[in-house]
Amino acid sequence: MYINRFNDAIKSKYGRKMYKLSLDGGMTCPNRDGKVGTGGCIFCSGSGAGDFAEKFEGDINTQIERAKRRVESKAGDCGYIAYFQSYTNTYAPVEELKRLFWSVVENDDVDILSIATRPDCLEEDKIALLAELNRVKPVWVELGLQTVNEKTADYIRRGYRLSVYDDAVKRLKKENIDFIVHMIIGLPGETQEDMVKTARYISNSGAAGVKFQLLHVLEGTDLAKEYKMGKFNCLSLEKYTDILIECIRNTSPDVVIHRMTGDGAKKDLIAPIWSGNKKMVLNYINKALKDRDVNQGDLIRRNRQ
Ligand code: SF4
Repeated sequence: MYINRFNDAIKSKYGRKMYKLSLDGGMTCPNRDGKVGTGGCIFCSGSGAGDFAEKFEGDINTQIERAKRRVESKAGDCGYIAYFQSYTNTYAPVEELKRLFWSVVENDDVDILSIATRPDCLEEDKIALLAELNRVKPVWVELGLQTVNEKTADYIRRGYRLSVYDDAVKRLKKENIDFIVHMIIGLPGETQEDMVKTARYISNSGAAGVKFQLLHVLEGTDLAKEYKMGKFNCLSLEKYTDILIECIRNTSPDVVIHRMTGDGAKKDLIAPIWSGNKKMVLNYINKALKDRDVNQGDLIRRNRQ
């Protein structure tokens, strides 16, 4: 069995474990404030995917200290990844981003800066800033692609075409900035083939990492309304695992797998209920990977022969 797991990849590259400090840069999202849309992505909770992030307050280093205190007891000798998770973290004037990100990069406790954003919020001046920061400390950009199927992208109201992703990753690659791509397994109307196609596309696009997320339905989202109307069903744990394994087998062995499932705030979780028991889910997936002797990328090699 071979899986390029996040913890192993980090340890072999940096010699120690890294903890993520989930931060809030105080930005919003063009898919919520009216620039691209007002409703947001159909599955997005009001927190802009930052359910577990620190709350925004003016001074980012105070947030970092608070986040560190939360993990310190279990962290031991580890490094830290400053992870801007909530909303769209390059959706602000570049001068503002400069102040924010430089003060993080200059913080001695931070080893890596990771920025979650949208490909349509990576204008030239912002990529130039990220490139500058990347020369001082590693910068990762996280992109929520979710799917390469344009019909599904319209349904989930992603608000940009696949060509926008292609263009952004081309410019990130030119500056040697690593990017990590999120995809969702279980989007309504998608077949296993569709999902495997997305995994392959991400891998071929040159991503340094991938986050496989399970579609979960959270209270208060438009997806919850559709679910309650019976418009779609969620995947069972067994089916989710089968599709995940096919996605992994179609992902190049060089791509680091940052996540194999996802979890929203438990208090808001409507479905699938099994996803609330993260430990059980990970145990189940890890056992399946082992029992089936899964090798990341083996279907890519086989299809090339
Ligand atoms: S782009 Fe991100 S923050 Fe914006 S609506 Fe979609 S999931 Fe939420």
